[in-house]
Amino acid sequence: MATPTKYIFVTGGVLSSLGKGLASAAIGALLECRGLTVSFQKLDPYINVDPGTMNPFQHGEVFVTDDGAETDLDLGHYERFANVRLGKDNNFTTGKIYHSVITKERQGKYLGGTVQVIPHITDEIKNAIRLQENKCDVAIIEIGGTIGDIESLPFLEAIRQFRTDAGKENVLYIHLSYVPYIATAGELKTKPTQHSVKELRGIGIQPNFLLCRTNQFLSDDIKKKIALFCNVTKEEVITAKDVDCIYEVPLMFHAEGLDDKILEHLNIWTGAPRLEQWSQLLERIRNPKDEVTIAIVGKYVELKESYKSLNEALVHGGIANNVKVNLVFVDSETISEKTCNEALANVHGVLVPGGFGSRGVSGKICSVAFARENKIPFFGICLGMQVAVIEFARHVAGIANANSTEFDENAADPVIYLMREWLDSKTGIVHKRDSQSDKGGTMRLGAYPCALAPDTFARNAYGTELISERHRHRYEFNNKYRKSLEDAGLVISGASPDEELVEIVEIKDHPWFLGCQFHPEFKSRPMAPHPLFREFIRAAYEQKLKAK
Ligand code: GLN
Repeated sequence: MATPTKYIFVTGGVLSSLGKGLASAAIGALLECRGLTVSFQKLDPYINVDPGTMNPFQHGEVFVTDDGAETDLDLGHYERFANVRLGKDNNFTTGKIYHSVITKERQGKYLGGTVQVIPHITDEIKNAIRLQENKCDVAIIEIGGTIGDIESLPFLEAIRQFRTDAGKENVLYIHLSYVPYIATAGELKTKPTQHSVKELRGIGIQPNFLLCRTNQFLSDDIKKKIALFCNVTKEEVITAKDVDCIYEVPLMFHAEGLDDKILEHLNIWTGAPRLEQWSQLLERIRNPKDEVTIAIVGKYVELKESYKSLNEALVHGGIANNVKVNLVFVDSETISEKTCNEALANVHGVLVPGGFGSRGVSGKICSVAFARENKIPFFGICLGMQVAVIEFARHVAGIANANSTEFDENAADPVIYLMREWLDSKTGIVHKRDSQSDKGGTMRLGAYPCALAPDTFARNAYGTELISERHRHRYEFNNKYRKSLEDAGLVISGASPDEELVEIVEIKDHPWFLGCQFHPEFKSRPMAPHPLFREFIRAAYEQKLKAK
């Protein structure tokens, strides 16, 4: 282990969505290929204490960690690219930082001092960054937002100071910028990058490397020009060219020599990189034997970012089966019993993902019915599982008024309901909640154990009896209905070890029909596709072969 821990700070310029999170994740992956241990942290400038209460339309998916933190979706990239499991210490927002400073102020911990952005907020940020100390060889710290934003200034000031505190040989700044190709001029333009770096230098940070997002390779001349204006060498300007597949990024950075240069700068000696697993992965992705089409029936379907981990987990399921997975996004608000057949006619599998609220629920129920009756492989995740239970209760078990109290508080038969009181097996705390409870922090969050029943889709997929998966929901399967649903043929294939909480439901006499209360997508990785996604895609592909 390189001592002390080295820090790489990643900032972004010009505009958002340039792939700062992916770039950070890919750098981590490359350093792991050199035998180093890495960790990550995302510092987000917004005031929300965590993204748990934010609309996925605005902010993309909320990524959930084992310890139950609701975090920025970039943590999902980090976990998929590198061999890390992250938690609450890996994501800080302005809200979280201020919350802790204000709490200390109220407790009188500042001894009568005036509490200010510098040094109190910046010290709190530096303390947060230092949580990575000694946990890894290299900590990659990504600053959210774009240089020039008012709100990210305290974070930038903190990372500027950090270099002096930690020693300049232990700190590296990487700035991701944009070099657009302007078709009318027939040229790549460097001015936005120049301005962004000027702004960063105005704050006191001289980037060591520039990652230039662009759609073509930067020529030597362009690199020279950027280098001249941005006070770096030509070798420190790296092309971050658009790629077809995100898993190409580590190899692309390697081809630009980025890992060698980072190690040289941080004065770390390692052996040659072991990149085979990345090249083999790409080989597999680029040469599928066939393809399958999966429908995702949901509410946030317009914005791919809101189902980031889910989309990736499906890709991984495809990798495991050597098939390309084509996704068809079906807006559940636009389908009904009549139109369902048409919308789902040519798909090989139906997936209903997680979600909140009653909008679009009837469309989701129709799609479950369609998949169940037509024996199309079905995968319901969280809300998707709850909807599958409602559909089964109504149409198979004859409980006509079955519903979730999320959709109808006065449902006659609440097969899915809000537990007013529940014992958290992890903490021993009895939680109490009702429909008026705070929205933040009142969910079952993070990893919980689940025991699998023999001879079920779930048990066959996992190949083990006890699993642990991540949760993020308020409502639960109502055990009052367990017996009547089981009598009608519903299989409870997974439950908490004390049998209190139903975790997985299935139906028999179907190629593959499974709903789970947890979110398996958070733990899937390209190198280790999640067993449920692997089996769902396998079943979907068999469905395709059968239909031929
Ligand atoms: N809205 C449901 C609940 O709170 C499902 C949540 C989800 O799908 N993540 O239980």
